[in-house]
Amino acid sequence: MLRVEVAIVGAGIAGASGAARIAPHRSVCLLEREAQPGTHASGRSATMFATAYGNRLVRRLALASNAFLANSRHPGGSLLHPRGMLHVASPGQEALLANFAAETGLPPLAADDVLALVPILRPQAVIGGVLDHAAAAIDDHRFLQLCLRSLKESGGTLWCNAEVIGIEPVGDGYRLATAAGPVEAGLVVNAAGAWADELAKRAGVPPLGLKALRRTAVTVDPPPGWDLSGWPMAIDIAETWYFKPEGGRLLLSPADATEVPPHDVQAEEWDVAVAADRYARLTGHEPRRIHHRWAGLRSFVPDHSPVVGCLPGHDRFLWLAGQGGAGFMTAPALAEIACALITDRELPDELRAMLAELSPARTAAVAS
Ligand SMILES: Cc1cc2nc3c(=O)[nH]c(=O)nc-3n(C[C@H](O)[C@H](O)[C@H](O)COP(=O)(O)OP(=O)(O)OC[C@H]3O[C@@H](n4cnc5c(N)ncnc54)[C@H](O)[C@@H]3O)c2cc1C
Repeated sequence: MLRVEVAIVGAGIAGASGAARIAPHRSVCLLEREAQPGTHASGRSATMFATAYGNRLVRRLALASNAFLANSRHPGGSLLHPRGMLHVASPGQEALLANFAAETGLPPLAADDVLALVPILRPQAVIGGVLDHAAAAIDDHRFLQLCLRSLKESGGTLWCNAEVIGIEPVGDGYRLATAAGPVEAGLVVNAAGAWADELAKRAGVPPLGLKALRRTAVTVDPPPGWDLSGWPMAIDIAETWYFKPEGGRLLLSPADATEVPPHDVQAEEWDVAVAADRYARLTGHEPRRIHHRWAGLRSFVPDHSPVVGCLPGHDRFLWLAGQGGAGFMTAPALAEIACALITDRELPDELRAMLAELSPARTAAVAS
């Protein structure tokens, strides 16, 4: 029987970054059902960082994560690579454009400026836009590996092929039955991604009404003769499509958000066709060849803000879930908060100010 102070369930970016942050202060075991960390949402993301994406709380969390991600002292340097995010408005989206510019404080651009930044867009498809020039691509693989290495260096353990099948309260904590053997822990961190409600139910903790939404991505060849290297990511201001340069190809998404039960989700033919069709309408180019297609689950509680903390009466079960479409860009701040809640460490003012909004207790829609 392995005994630790903290058992973290789920080795995606949430669990791995939390484990790395907590392990210098507490004994930690990170438990993952799959053979490899980062198999689900964290291995399928578009890997962008932006402080003008998501709701206000998500934006504040991304801002608070910027210093960690941009730190040039990480092995291999900063985890961020300049990319920019261009929010594109099409005919009929005049009001959305004005609201977005006012809300973010970023200046609206004229259609010609948008077309100069991403010249593959058809002039008829563009009425203006907003450039978030500080947005960046995250080196997601290096970020995850860096977290796992920090966990190991602090004496923490990673168990893969270790699905948590049962959780029962014992003494001051929990006994976890896992596929790799039993674990006793004073505290469980629920970083199970789309499966977080299922894990809670196994532990006798009320679920939060988490929804898993499928999102699809494909990579395609750009039309011959285009140099995409300097393009920002282009995203519809209402988030019905996006595309971005990715290793000499284009990554396209129809920005789908189809609710499904948590599972190892695959791309559906329909969503792949919608991605190709929206790109063709926007650019006038049919994608020539789809190289790779995938889908991942983004999971949200009803107010679309992440959840960090314990429910009243369940103070040995800490939620680190509901990161939606922003789990990489917010992971450093969320890990810092989880660590502070577990170790009673001081939090910087800007993070302390978010605790009530992140608490699972705010989730009125606690489902039974
Ligand atoms: C197409 C797409 C594009 C995205 N783009 C971006 C982006 O540009 N920027 C950004 O910041 N975010 C983006 N995201 C969101 C981001 O990927 C997620 O928010 C993040 O990966 C969530 O991490 P997680 O660790 O919570 O979940 P996951 O990575 O899903 O990890 C949860 C882990 O828990 C494990 N698990 C579940 N139940 C158990 C159990 N009982 N026992 C043991 N293990 C268990 C699972 O196997 C899984 O590995 C995108 C997501 C998608 C799908």
